[in-house]
Amino acid sequence: MAQADVLKISDTEIKKGQRVRIEIPIAKLFDYTSLNIPVEVIRGAQDGPTLFVSAAIHGDEIIGAEIVKRILARKELADIKGTLIAIPIVNPFGFNNNTRYLPDRRDLNRCFPGSPTGSLAARMAHTFLSEIVSKCDYGIDIHSGAVHRFNFPQVRMEIRDEEEARMAQAFGAPVVINSPLRAGTLRQAAYERGIKTILYEAGEALRFDDHAINIGIHGVLRVMQELDMLDRDPDDMPNANVMIAKSSHWIRAPESGSLRILKKFGSFVDGEELLGVLTDPFGSNVCEVRAKTAGIIIGATTMPLVNRGNALFHIATLEDLKFAGEAEESQFVLDSDVDIENEDWIKQII
Ligand SMILES: [Zn+2]
Repeated sequence: MAQADVLKISDTEIKKGQRVRIEIPIAKLFDYTSLNIPVEVIRGAQDGPTLFVSAAIHGDEIIGAEIVKRILARKELADIKGTLIAIPIVNPFGFNNNTRYLPDRRDLNRCFPGSPTGSLAARMAHTFLSEIVSKCDYGIDIHSGAVHRFNFPQVRMEIRDEEEARMAQAFGAPVVINSPLRAGTLRQAAYERGIKTILYEAGEALRFDDHAINIGIHGVLRVMQELDMLDRDPDDMPNANVMIAKSSHWIRAPESGSLRILKKFGSFVDGEELLGVLTDPFGSNVCEVRAKTAGIIIGATTMPLVNRGNALFHIATLEDLKFAGEAEESQFVLDSDVDIENEDWIKQII
């Protein structure tokens, strides 16, 4: 893929073989502090595709910023073909304030494609789309679960799109979920412009998780290998046991109470399997939380105090699972076994 000799982002011109850090100006805040999006651009001497890797579009989903930072430290980037545009913090306001949103409570990832004359969120979306995304062939956008929700490492993409499916397979997260495009998201705006973009979702807002970070780092590097931006690493081949699910659903709390989770993240569950129990403060009024269908646990609340109707377990539906490899059980199950040896009351209902 032939590339222009000069790539222009904001007012900065980046030539082949250059590695440059840029601050893209967005707005002035109330106190006239400048709001900028920090970007690092790495252009190889040789031609290749242009890939953006973005994180913290939801400002409290900090795990992606850590993944991007650690990718930027990798030595192999010195031999990159094409261009990597790394944006560790798309929403610096939310990042600094530990919040998902912008000052007006707008969700930046619902404001695409944005507008050059709109609200702060609309201007940010427009600038990010026009200065970065529209100059790329591919993208990887990194997210985590919300506050008090942990996501088992997973890639979300448009299953009908062959190139996105190829990227998702190469990424090698344990689970790939077909995720319909949602209006106003970066992914939809990119898709409409022909820029193939997958989402990596892992961990919990305002938390780091080494397992999820490592899968993210190696996933991005493997996608870059798949796109011929990096040489193949024979020691870091894609996971053959990626599971592809066409749908997912949440199991909600049938009652209020405190939750004991009895199944591990990433584990398979049978239809109607016991996932956890809710009890009152004395351990009585036991209420079972059961699966509705067979599937794999891809997310769960980390907040044990729940109200009736709260989302507790996110299940990728097993009947729709397509095994890319020969795996019968996820090899990435997290957590240690739940110890219930001394708790007869739970044993009685399992
Ligand atoms: Zn997010």
